[in-house]
Amino acid sequence: MRKQILIVGGGTAGWLTAGYLAKRLGADLPGGVAITLVESHDIGVLGVGEGTFPTIRRTLATIGIDEADLVRRCGATFKQGAKFVNWRNVPGEGATDHYSHPFQVADSSGGLELLPYWLLGEGGTENWDEVSNPQKKAADARRAPKLPSHEDYVGPLNYAFHFDAIALAGLLREQGIANGVRHLIDTVTQVSLDADGAIDSVSTERNGSLTADLYVDCTGFRAELIGKAMNIPFRSCRDVLFCDRAVAAQLPYTGERDPIASYTISTAQQAGWTWDIGLDRRRGIGHVYSSDHTDDEAAERVLRGYLGAAGADAEVRRFKFDAGYRETNWHKNCVAVGLSSGFFEPLEATGIAFAEVSAGMIANLFPWGGDYETSARQFNLNLRRRYERALDFIKLHYCISERRDTEFWRDNVAAASIPDSLHEMLDRWRYRWPNELDIDAQIDIFTEPSWQYVLYGMGWKTDLSAKAGSLRYHEDARRAFAEVRRQADYAIANLPSNRDLVEYARSHR
Ligand code: FAD
Repeated sequence: MRKQILIVGGGTAGWLTAGYLAKRLGADLPGGVAITLVESHDIGVLGVGEGTFPTIRRTLATIGIDEADLVRRCGATFKQGAKFVNWRNVPGEGATDHYSHPFQVADSSGGLELLPYWLLGEGGTENWDEVSNPQKKAADARRAPKLPSHEDYVGPLNYAFHFDAIALAGLLREQGIANGVRHLIDTVTQVSLDADGAIDSVSTERNGSLTADLYVDCTGFRAELIGKAMNIPFRSCRDVLFCDRAVAAQLPYTGERDPIASYTISTAQQAGWTWDIGLDRRRGIGHVYSSDHTDDEAAERVLRGYLGAAGADAEVRRFKFDAGYRETNWHKNCVAVGLSSGFFEPLEATGIAFAEVSAGMIANLFPWGGDYETSARQFNLNLRRRYERALDFIKLHYCISERRDTEFWRDNVAAASIPDSLHEMLDRWRYRWPNELDIDAQIDIFTEPSWQYVLYGMGWKTDLSAKAGSLRYHEDARRAFAEVRRQADYAIANLPSNRDLVEYARSHR
């Protein structure tokens, strides 16, 4: 008898999990796991989530989606990181205020770590994000991360994608079905538990009762299985991350050849921030804000101000969320993936990345022998730590700001809103820079280069005066910085624009 997985929900999380597990667990093989996905046409998908993390390349390749299809079908463009504007200072006060978190890690030619030399001034007047790697300057110049001749999902510069979320769910659905996933369009009306508290079956409107060995809850914020039926608590993180609403719009380009930004542009606002994501034919723009610090009308005004005259008639969509996660995401024979599991906020695009991680862990921990408890324990421990660590990383963007212009920013830097674990790390980094000892490679989505980019982009001071005399490779470091500058010039001169690479992928197979 084949093992059965039932996935409830057909948003990005549901279809990503279905297509991925179908490949990893052999849904198309006689000895593999049979996978069914049921999604309701009466309950919509969230339909946002346009920014991703570089792990998406491997996930999509495993599912079997080719890059040109992704670009053609989902309006996808190449994302090389995030650019943060006005996070450090109030606009107009202080130095030009922007920094980047590129996906490319810092150069370490010949094993030499460059950061201490930059901290001691060897990088000249350039910021860490631009002197440590060529990607920031290339992305500023709207270059793509690769040439058309590079293979799918491979490039000299690290990258992810921006795409249309609804179109992506459609492409994932098509590929999932091709991978052997059985697809039902139906609404789950009831979840029945057995005496032990495990799921016995789910009832649907048209397909009767459905049973499986493992149930995957991808029902979004509704959390029909893990939350409503099994009553697994949700841990709110509103005391750390204040944003709980968003208002979003789409803005067409004015000309067909308008340049496409190669990173998410995240601009700090008085009670939150705005995202600006360039797809092939339009931009997706939204304002994420805290309802404790502003109201919906004021937030829409901020969005409309950002859109400018071109967006005067743009339709807006509103979203509500509560930053947080479940500490138990695998309970008995049910595991939550996507928004039902947790969500902080759109900053740094962790939503889809967490769904990828969860799908990967389900594939690795699938209880072939029937021992759900052991798999659940490992899954929950790992995911909980990931959430805790990602929470610290997102909070970092807010809590070391010099902005004090509004209650939102004053509250964000208040010590009580900063988790102890983040306090401890910040204390460490007063006299040394973040290194691999601060990272757990099995857990952390964001490794030390990410922490370094944000920390020093925000103007953090690490005092190396006591250590300076022990550093001996100043000349090598200066040469390495010059080499990074040369690589950046080379990338700008030789890589196509993001727009040209997208148009090439659209017109060639
Ligand atoms: P949904 O899209 O809500 O899908 C839920 C599915 O469950 C639907 O198919 C629905 O029909 C089905 N369903 C529900 N109830 C039932 C039922 N009873 N029976 C049958 N089916 C049912 N993430 C990123 O990675 N990058 C971003 O840039 C980003 N931006 C975001 C911006 C905002 C404002 C928000 C709120 C989120 C953002 N996210 C982002 C998160 C991202 O949108 C989600 O992680 C992603 O869309 C996955 O959603 P989902 O599939 O879990 O849920």
